[in-house]
Amino acid sequence: MLNSIENVLRAAAHLLAEHESPSPRIDASVLLCHVLDKPSSYLYTWSDKLLSDEELAAFNGLIARRTLGEPVAYIIGYRDFWSLRLNVEPSTLIPRPDTERLVELALERLPKGEGSVLDLGTGTGAIALSIASERHDLEVTGVDLRPEAVALAQRNQQENGISNALFLQSSWFDAVPEHAFTMIVSNPPYIDPEDPHLAQGDVRFEPKTALIADDHGLADIRHICQHSPRYLAQGGWLMIEHGYDQGHAVRALFLGVGFCDVETVQDYAGLDRVTLGRIAQSALTAEAALT
Ligand code: GLN
Repeated sequence: MLNSIENVLRAAAHLLAEHESPSPRIDASVLLCHVLDKPSSYLYTWSDKLLSDEELAAFNGLIARRTLGEPVAYIIGYRDFWSLRLNVEPSTLIPRPDTERLVELALERLPKGEGSVLDLGTGTGAIALSIASERHDLEVTGVDLRPEAVALAQRNQQENGISNALFLQSSWFDAVPEHAFTMIVSNPPYIDPEDPHLAQGDVRFEPKTALIADDHGLADIRHICQHSPRYLAQGGWLMIEHGYDQGHAVRALFLGVGFCDVETVQDYAGLDRVTLGRIAQSALTAEAALT
């Protein structure tokens, strides 16, 4: 049948494949679910059902945007991350599954009982809200340079019913109140401005400020490493996401300011993705030496 769900999906997936979507069938299904306001199971259960003219026109409009490369998350306005549905806007990075690895590692290492977590460059609030949602006994602070991101994170907090998080506008530590955090987490910009991947796929539509950093992508990570010791409790953890080829350089930065138990952990694809370490008392003097 001409405009059955199955036929429409097949044609759209074919078109998206021609326009080099890496996941044409999934993209088409997600966009159709969005138009129909139904879960994906509906598409398979009712594959013979005919779309109305309005539904078809709306779907074709979204597919046309996707053929121009616009990320699915920006088209539908949200991305599922951890157990949360997060609104996304072109002013923030789209949360990625790789970053769920960081959340997992943070939850494994956060000690039992009360504590506090700082998320630097929070964007949608993905990391901060995931941790806060799992650990109601922690106070989580998320900061971002861009006021639009802070407003978005606050909206995500509200819509997910999370009370133990607070979002502030701050350039890294600049507006962070003096505090000894139990853990500092961050998914900062870490892509080299010359990286050819910036001209491909979804990242073309994401804000450059959330993606690129000077000094081969290491400038912001270095800044975070140098200033973290002053904001960590004794034994507190620093955990930073980074590029697959930056593990060695990031470990050197951690060790240079006196972190101990430093290690790099791989993402689900087996690539170096997160480096972590805990503060030793002597790091406070190492920070002073470096800054
Ligand atoms: N992991 C992302 C990418 O390679 C980049 C995220 C970031 O810069 N923090 O697309």
